[in-house]
Amino acid sequence: MQQLLHEWAGLLSTLPRKSLGLAAWLVALALVFGLLERWRPVRPAQRFPRRDLAADVIYYFLSGLLPAFAVAAATVAFAWLLGGLIPASLLNWVAGLPLWLRIVLLIVVGDTAYYWTHRWSHELPLLWKFHLIHHSPTELDWLVNTRAHPIDLALARVLPLLPLLAFGLRQPASRDMETAAAVYVALTTVWAFFVHANVRVRLGWLEQLIITPAFHHWHHHNERSAALGRNYASLLPWLDRLFGTYHLPKELPSAYGAADALPSTLGGQLLSPFRPRRGSPVTTGPD
Ligand SMILES: [Zn+2]
Ligand SMILES: [Zn+2]
Repeated sequence: MQQLLHEWAGLLSTLPRKSLGLAAWLVALALVFGLLERWRPVRPAQRFPRRDLAADVIYYFLSGLLPAFAVAAATVAFAWLLGGLIPASLLNWVAGLPLWLRIVLLIVVGDTAYYWTHRWSHELPLLWKFHLIHHSPTELDWLVNTRAHPIDLALARVLPLLPLLAFGLRQPASRDMETAAAVYVALTTVWAFFVHANVRVRLGWLEQLIITPAFHHWHHHNERSAALGRNYASLLPWLDRLFGTYHLPKELPSAYGAADALPSTLGGQLLSPFRPRRGSPVTTGPD
């Protein structure tokens, strides 16, 4: 517990510097994705600023600052409960693998764990109450990526972390191992902004290897004619093929959002999972 308090105190002391860094990144991301979205928009008529943009900027900072506290807690708890059970020979063997192979393994193990975390967020009513915030926008752009309840976000970061720690793919005490992890986190973060963007980009055969905006836009679709509960992966589309949730027709969805209503204010949205609600999670069925 003392170690965790020490970690959190360290994180708290870096909040002002991190906030400034996030503000700089926000400007850079707005420039890059703003240009991309003007170049080839999926929906040219989408207004700017769109509805809820101001709230999404606040979600951006919450998403950038809060998950580190959950990750620190999970890492300390894992080391305390299970750390001693991981054989040193496994940790050393994984640490001795080439950097590129460790990154590939991080992506495969991390995205498989993320797939199931994300799918449970749709299929379990309790988790859907939190994940609904991410699915509420009826217009998509790159910033929707950060629109998430802090508890939804913490789960999405912590649950995939556990198998990575168990397989020795994350070793917080090793700077070299954390370099590979930093590459993995940077890739998933940038790609998550990209796949939410209002941009019409198809990648041909590469779409078999990595997800695209079209793939994730279908995850956000709200069309009566198509099944919900599709395309849960954050990088690897073949995970959805493997688990029967892949959906990527040639056309793009014409409607986004969720059937369940959400309060319009930020505070109301953050409190909404704790209030009684009528509504059902998204269901998954065969393609
Ligand atoms: Zn989702
Ligand atoms: Zn999304």
